[in-house]
Amino acid sequence: MATATTPKVIPGGTFLLTDAAPDDIFTPEDFSDEQQEIARATAEFAEKSIVPRLAEIEAKNFAVTRELLREAGSLGLMAADIPEQYGGLALDKVTAALISDRIAVSASFSVSFSAHTGIGTLPVIWYGTPAQKEKYLPRLASGEWIAAYALSESSSGSDAMNIRAQARLSADGKQYILNGEKMWISNAGFADLFIIFAKIAGEPGQPEQFSAFLVERDAPGLTIGAEEHKLGIRGSSTCPLVLSDCAIPVENLLGEAGKGHHIAFNILNVGRYKLGAATLGGARNSLRTAIKYGKQRMAFGKPITSFGLIQEKIAEAAAGIFAGEALVYRVVGAIDAALATLGPDAPAAEVQKRIEDYAVECSIVKVWCSEMLEHVVDHSVQIHGGYGYVEEYPAERGYRDARINRIFEGTNEINRLIITGFLLRRAMQGRLPLLPAIGKVMDEVMAGPSPRSDASGPLAAERALLASAKKLGLFCSGAASQKYPTNLQDQQEIMGALADMLMEILVMESAILRAEKMNQSGNRSAALAQSLAQLASARSFRIIQNSAERILGAVAEGDMLRTQMTIFRRIAKHDPINTVALGRTVAEEMIAAERYKI
Ligand SMILES: Cc1cc2nc3c(=O)[nH]c(=O)nc-3n(C[C@H](O)[C@H](O)[C@H](O)COP(=O)(O)OP(=O)(O)OC[C@H]3O[C@@H](n4cnc5c(N)ncnc54)[C@H](O)[C@@H]3O)c2cc1C
Repeated sequence: MATATTPKVIPGGTFLLTDAAPDDIFTPEDFSDEQQEIARATAEFAEKSIVPRLAEIEAKNFAVTRELLREAGSLGLMAADIPEQYGGLALDKVTAALISDRIAVSASFSVSFSAHTGIGTLPVIWYGTPAQKEKYLPRLASGEWIAAYALSESSSGSDAMNIRAQARLSADGKQYILNGEKMWISNAGFADLFIIFAKIAGEPGQPEQFSAFLVERDAPGLTIGAEEHKLGIRGSSTCPLVLSDCAIPVENLLGEAGKGHHIAFNILNVGRYKLGAATLGGARNSLRTAIKYGKQRMAFGKPITSFGLIQEKIAEAAAGIFAGEALVYRVVGAIDAALATLGPDAPAAEVQKRIEDYAVECSIVKVWCSEMLEHVVDHSVQIHGGYGYVEEYPAERGYRDARINRIFEGTNEINRLIITGFLLRRAMQGRLPLLPAIGKVMDEVMAGPSPRSDASGPLAAERALLASAKKLGLFCSGAASQKYPTNLQDQQEIMGALADMLMEILVMESAILRAEKMNQSGNRSAALAQSLAQLASARSFRIIQNSAERILGAVAEGDMLRTQMTIFRRIAKHDPINTVALGRTVAEEMIAAERYKI
């Protein structure tokens, strides 16, 4: 019987500096019986209840969406993060992520579900008073009420602290009066409860206080605008809000006045790993559709899945999903391990602090998985040929639906800046020994060629590549910080390229460790996992090399650049593996199974 394994607590942001062992990480193969059971029940709900109603969902029949949300509530799928005393199940974060993963058969429904369970409900769980929790959480857990999160405005999305919505206390001190507008609010068309961010106007000479408020749908002065006509996730509701002297009881302030930014930003870490989990479901779905289509589509007398260039796409997609699964569940498993060191009654602030420790990893999950999904849906359209371009086939919808993931929950640009920025800041604050590690690598590379890696085992070559990738990451961080010791944050292209290196290092390591763990436990798919990890590592390393060259070209010139490029080539030197043969083997297995299979 599989019971939940708790991996070692590895502090967030340290993956560049330490080498994890297979047993240090949580993988999908470590799901407990209970986690697998919930995953199975979620997948069954998705297949039996959501799939038959896809057309109605896409037609914005929100009565259907609400009905399905209610059904999800009755199955307990909306209660994972909610404490038991408020009608929740208080499950671990891996289980909550698994629900997001397995429910993702319709991107539109997934967005409605995530906006409700993640950014809509979590603020009440973490910041609500006992009375607020008592009032709202049981209804949100059951799906009787649906929540929405309203931070963005027409003039401020990424620049969230710059919102203009205002709140003022009424003369009798009994109400807050809200004025302003909100834009792009998911679930707004049918939500019952809105978490609305606004600034409480200060006394003359006092600063405004960025705060959050609980606003019920029927609050006087709240108007929901018309549905946006969107590129994708057309079956989700996205509307603006207008707040015109919207009066709410003073008790509906959520958290402390002036601390709304903690709510806004802490919630996003969870939103980001759940988004990553949902992309996995989307990608598996897209690959399954592509393989099924490809097997029956004949060209030149053969099914198109027999062609190398189609198999290459299938293998790339499968390797992306394998690595994405390894990444998501490693990160969420690490968060669970960190939270397990807290008691069950730990204050919400402690829980948030533990999760925030993994902010870099949460951003990596968000960016990497959203871009992985883009590649998969793009391959799916291409495998469908002309049929991929028309609405009758699901590939077209998948392609449109995937695009939003790079925009919301912090755009991928903002998240890339967070990834590099947080790590550098932690290093500067002495919380992460990045600078000594950079110094060590610099000394090592200056001393001449290092001996070949002594890694052994089936993935020895990938282990050696990973070691080189980490060295390159440190070497480039050092070179960039030398050139811009105080203002690297102003060099966004370099920050972005460093983020790409960091992301690929974490992904590569996660894929390798997962395959090694499967091998060590004698998993029957270990050989396939090994091929998938090899393909994923080869791809990651290509990106790491490109990013390193881009960084070095930007921070050095002349003799310095030539020296740095010599060092770069020395570190990056390796013999390429046969990704063509590996790709064919992987594709054959996926084609035979007619889906992503591990
Ligand atoms: C379908 C949909 C649903 C949404 N749901 C919600 C919701 O439920 N609640 C909610 O509050 N919001 C929601 N949003 C809003 C979403 O979070 C924002 O659109 C997003 O944060 C980007 O903000 P923006 O649109 O103002 O773009 P901007 O912030 O104007 O960004 C435009 C471009 O500039 C880039 N950029 C901005 N600042 C920087 C910088 N400092 N450095 C480099 N590049 C930068 C961005 O990356 C982007 O590429 C939703 C949006 C959509 C489209």
